[in-house]
Amino acid sequence: MKKLTGVPISKGIAIGKAFLFLDADFPETPRFHIENNQIDEEWARFLVAVDEAKENVKSLRGVQKSGADERDDILNAHLLMLEDVEFHTQIKKRLERSLENIESAVWDVGREFYQMLMASPVSYLRERAVDIADVTKQILNILLNIKKRSLADLTEDVIVVTRELPPSEAVAMNKRHVKALVMGAGSQTSHTAILAKAFEIPAVFGISAIAEEVSQGDTLIVDGDSGAVILKPTAKKIEKYREIIAQASEKKVAQEALRDLPAETTDGFRVILNANIEFPEETEQALRYGAEGIGLYRSEFLFLNTGYAEEEEQFRAYADVLKAMKGKPVTVRTVDVGGDKIPLDIRVIEEKNPLLGLRAIRFSLAHPELFKAQLRAILRASVFGVVKIMFPLISGLTELDAALSMLEEAKKECRKKEQAFSSHIEVGCMIEIPAAAVIADILAEKSNFFSLGANDLVQYSLAVDRNNEQVSYLSQPFHPAIIRLIKRTIDEAHSAGIKAAMCGELAGDPRATLVLLGLGLDEFSMNASQIPLVKQIVRKASVEKCRALVKKILTCKTVKDVEIIMKEGGGQP
Ligand code: PEP
Ligand code: MG
Repeated sequence: MKKLTGVPISKGIAIGKAFLFLDADFPETPRFHIENNQIDEEWARFLVAVDEAKENVKSLRGVQKSGADERDDILNAHLLMLEDVEFHTQIKKRLERSLENIESAVWDVGREFYQMLMASPVSYLRERAVDIADVTKQILNILLNIKKRSLADLTEDVIVVTRELPPSEAVAMNKRHVKALVMGAGSQTSHTAILAKAFEIPAVFGISAIAEEVSQGDTLIVDGDSGAVILKPTAKKIEKYREIIAQASEKKVAQEALRDLPAETTDGFRVILNANIEFPEETEQALRYGAEGIGLYRSEFLFLNTGYAEEEEQFRAYADVLKAMKGKPVTVRTVDVGGDKIPLDIRVIEEKNPLLGLRAIRFSLAHPELFKAQLRAILRASVFGVVKIMFPLISGLTELDAALSMLEEAKKECRKKEQAFSSHIEVGCMIEIPAAAVIADILAEKSNFFSLGANDLVQYSLAVDRNNEQVSYLSQPFHPAIIRLIKRTIDEAHSAGIKAAMCGELAGDPRATLVLLGLGLDEFSMNASQIPLVKQIVRKASVEKCRALVKKILTCKTVKDVEIIMKEGGGQP
């Protein structure tokens, strides 16, 4: 048994078999020392793997007999490579010299061949590089017993173990069979993390050595509450965790009983608890957990696998969400592509610093036709419920003005086509760049509401990439600077007579609830499954005490000081 600790991402506990999903050109391989007397055995494993790979290729060639000449050429080339004397000789030499397992020798030699061919000025040889990579990968997959390559094809319950899972893969995976997700990279606010929470899949990220530590089929316990991943647990440990799972499900039942009760403190301070969604289907879950509305609909997820959606497709999706929410408000955030978000073919220019590049509202303003199509789709859907529009990553008034005038143009276009839309649509901006928080008073003049995007506010204020686990320790939402920026935003919203919401992960973080109440936040929008817990905390809290707590916190100089005060005040750090 061995315990690894990572960043707890999505709550819940799962016990199951590991499914290594290492979808790189060259799968990550365990690397270990072998003795001289193991060389023959390792070499024999290689030859068996090569034979199996050849059989696989031949069977594919058989399927392709009727006419697919090109494909047959490639498969023939692969067969030749699998038998290539030089390739075999180099691998054997590496095995004998390095005294490391055969997978390491195959990996190293395959990589060297690949790099050598890739560096060639002759295009034929560069093309062969791709083939050698493919062949190396096939051998490694056989040696490592990695069979399935798509998480969509899963047919049995597994715990997915991966170095990095792009959001598009996370969406495609067969969620019914993914009991937990363990990832080497990633942090709380990465988009794969957001999806894991949306799908209610327990997840632990940021264990960089995970691929080396876990083997295919190992039994694992994943504790998404604490961030623990237990490898090959004892029967006693499994028993203990089964008890914890049973207790947690009782607790959940108790929390869900609060569903129809208001989120109101003991001294009568009422707040709104909304859900964040990425897909229309999530409205069912939002309502089940008692969301009073959708505080953030991440509309860019519509484009995840399909490219930029047409106006009609967008209209249908927004209309579906509004209908499903039956009059409860739905805040559609206009697309936030770029940065670590959804890649789009339209974004043709490579960016050195995508997080500081053509992202979110900048992308929309750079593509007015796409932007207006989205705005028209939202306007037209507005007749099905209460819609609000929110612009992401606003950095200043000029940008907000430009977005608002696009909205006016979109309205004109709808009127011209006699397309009906609601006359009362609130428009707000996300406060997620420090500059926006600093000029909140100016932005408030043109906004019907604010929504604090705490994920990005932390990222940009503390200069810490939200997807980089190496610096995730600096991603500190309780940093005095962040608390001051949040306070400033809420205060300026209230001075201008508008509401302040928050839709970053912090809004659903139970450690933050008392502080956010004390700061005067009006609306909290979070992953739906967090709503019952946050509501429970709100209903037990006194806003007066929360305000006193915040007063003390505002005198703190360090994160540590803040956390000490929070603990004393009944918060949870
Ligand atoms: C945020 O930045 O806090 C936010 C809610 O937006 P996203 O996570 O989609 O960037
Ligand atoms: Mg954001």
